[in-house]
Amino acid sequence: MDVVVVGGGPAGRAAAAACSDTGLRVTLVDPSPRRGWPHTYATWRDELPASVPQSAVAAVTDRMFAYGTTRHEFHRPYAVLDNTALWKHLWRPDVVEVTGRAVAAEHGPTGSTVVLKDGRRIAGAVVVDASGAARVLTGGRPARGPAQQTAVGAVFDAEDAQALCGAESGLFMDWRPAPHTRGGWPTFLYAVRLGPDRVLLEETSLARRPGLPLALLRRRLAGRLAAAGVPIEHRLGEERVRFPVDDPLPRPGRVVPYGAAAGFVHPATGFSVAASLRQAPWLAGAISAGLTGGPAAAARAARSILWPPRAVSAHLLRRRALHALLTFPPELVPEFFESFFSLDLRHQSAFLSPDGDPATTAAAMSALFRIAPWQVRRRLVRGGLVLGRPVAQHGFGGE
Ligand SMILES: Cc1cc2nc3c(=O)[nH]c(=O)nc-3n(C[C@H](O)[C@H](O)[C@H](O)COP(=O)(O)OP(=O)(O)OC[C@H]3O[C@@H](n4cnc5c(N)ncnc54)[C@H](O)[C@@H]3O)c2cc1C
Repeated sequence: MDVVVVGGGPAGRAAAAACSDTGLRVTLVDPSPRRGWPHTYATWRDELPASVPQSAVAAVTDRMFAYGTTRHEFHRPYAVLDNTALWKHLWRPDVVEVTGRAVAAEHGPTGSTVVLKDGRRIAGAVVVDASGAARVLTGGRPARGPAQQTAVGAVFDAEDAQALCGAESGLFMDWRPAPHTRGGWPTFLYAVRLGPDRVLLEETSLARRPGLPLALLRRRLAGRLAAAGVPIEHRLGEERVRFPVDDPLPRPGRVVPYGAAAGFVHPATGFSVAASLRQAPWLAGAISAGLTGGPAAAARAARSILWPPRAVSAHLLRRRALHALLTFPPELVPEFFESFFSLDLRHQSAFLSPDGDPATTAAAMSALFRIAPWQVRRRLVRGGLVLGRPVAQHGFGGE
């Protein structure tokens, strides 16, 4: 085998498909390789690569609203993915699927061997770790507890949810407090159409260490639904969200991390799926070209195409902004987002983009700094976000 991909989530499937399309022989290992993806995946439409077919998009909303302390409107289409169609789009008949759980990888001059929990061994020139937050072959879970995004969502018939999610629009973030919220860490309402007649209403904690309890989010969501007259008893299903948003970038090594395992989760949104779909052809191209120099060279080439120094710098800047935000007094968080949503779309998109460009990220942060109230500025500086000074140029994992 040329490539062994560990993990069959969106990142692993995208990596396997791209490697197969490049002519590489691929094995994909997952405890349940045929299991669909249960989560609701969304992204700005323009961040999906052109290769994702329209059929893999379940819904597109042309107008999104956001509230910091006042209302903002974005004419930037927002897409919810159709997981079944995307899975099929990424499935390849020549990718060998192995049902199993990877526990270790061994490396030699001619390639690597992935060791499964039941003792089976799979040899390949290059190993890709797309095991998500588990990062099974690239260091495992970091010792320090992560900042986590947590959320509780309820699915409704679109008609029932009309008061909070109109026919042609959605809510990216509504930071106005849920009714009867007495202090505490602020959370926001997220509202998107899942298809022509289904809507997801979700109370989200962007990041907190440790993650905000789901019971608290459920209570706040219930308060919002009651205040808007959305009948909670008509709820069709519940989505529970908990994942780390500030995992350090993995250290250099022979295994190539990919997707959430590789630090693709954006510190400001928690998104990683669009980035995994976009980067897959680059990953495959780097492995394919690098293999002429041997397995170790291919792994190095893949790592450096995924995380060039400029992308690492942009990532560190965004993480620093997140860590500064975690030190804010709760009442200032909506003020911070009020400033953020007041930026022009160019700056917002640059900061939220999955692509790492330190210059545009820093320009967006500087623009925010200029318009933010002094209390927000002071907190950003105290939180270690000193703009104007370039973030040190680290290699992959050099945090
Ligand atoms: C409820 C929820 C909603 C989210 N919504 C969004 C969203 O709207 N937009 C967005 O961009 N992101 C979203 N995210 C964040 C993130 O993008 C997802 O977590 C996404 O699934 C990450 O994709 P991945 O393929 O990197 O990892 P995962 O989807 O976590 O896939 C990892 C795979 O590896 C397998 N695996 C684990 N351990 C092993 C092992 N030892 N051996 C072999 N296989 C193993 C797992 O079974 C799994 O199939 C959401 C996350 C959650 C939890």
